[in-house]
Amino acid sequence: MASNCSHDCSSCGEGGCSSRKKESLIKKPHQMSDIKKVIAVVSGKGGVGKSMTCALLAAAAQNSGKVTAVMDADITGPSIPRMFGTDKRAMGSDNGILPVVSEGGVQIMSMNVLLENEAEPVVWRGSLISGTVLQFWTDVIWTGVDIMFIDMPPGTGDVPLTVFQSIPIDGIVVVTTPQDLVGMIVQKAVNMAQMMNIPILGIVENMSYIKCPDCGRKIPVFGESKVDAIAMEYGIPNVAKLPIDRDLTVAADGGKIEEVEDNPLNEFLSKILKKIKLK
Ligand code: ADP
Repeated sequence: MASNCSHDCSSCGEGGCSSRKKESLIKKPHQMSDIKKVIAVVSGKGGVGKSMTCALLAAAAQNSGKVTAVMDADITGPSIPRMFGTDKRAMGSDNGILPVVSEGGVQIMSMNVLLENEAEPVVWRGSLISGTVLQFWTDVIWTGVDIMFIDMPPGTGDVPLTVFQSIPIDGIVVVTTPQDLVGMIVQKAVNMAQMMNIPILGIVENMSYIKCPDCGRKIPVFGESKVDAIAMEYGIPNVAKLPIDRDLTVAADGGKIEEVEDNPLNEFLSKILKKIKLK
């Protein structure tokens, strides 16, 4: 790589550059944006609690004093604005698009804050969806962000691939449930992360158990957890297990995710912050 590398391969005459292939697809954020770290929250399929995890992580980060943002890349199933209780619409300025800001101060961009009617379905082809997600990165002005969480679309299709190739992601959090084929999903995530040279920062097993309201015993409704064994197999030290908890549903559906008491992902997040060296 040239010593004065601008990471803009399109205008660089340098031949035989070792970083050329990898960096040529990375897009620069808006020139007025300032984003220190980016973490993608992924899952093998929909409905496992990926958005819930993403929202809890963002709430935990914001509450710990980090300037936090959420980019809702789940264009066809956006649920982040509702979890943060905002029905504001994004505003444009001469310079770019401004994210909406939750009551607790989290900067949010989502398809739902751009649609006139949030019940409108987005019936688009993959390339258009990927383009929109990339615009959330290139055209939105993210201000002084310490940590951004990206709520990825489920699976390993076109859109996640484009996002991974185009946005400089510092790490991935994988969300699964016990009834999911955890091993296979983690393996896919590990393979994809290795291909992209991105570390896996932790696994969240959502809906891991319910707590008996009388005796407090943990009941593994979907069978015994396998996530610890799998995490060990792939050398991922950071694992969190979330119960099925009515309070979480009520908070998420009622737009009060920032008010969850004793956020169950606080400890998981602080290990991530250490790992990505964001203190
Ligand atoms: P995904 O993003 O994977 O599609 P969501 O995060 O939107 O899934 O979760 C799907 C639904 O399940 C939402 O209504 C959410 O409130 C609920 N949910 C997710 N995790 C939990 C949990 N641990 N306890 C209770 N409800 C949950």
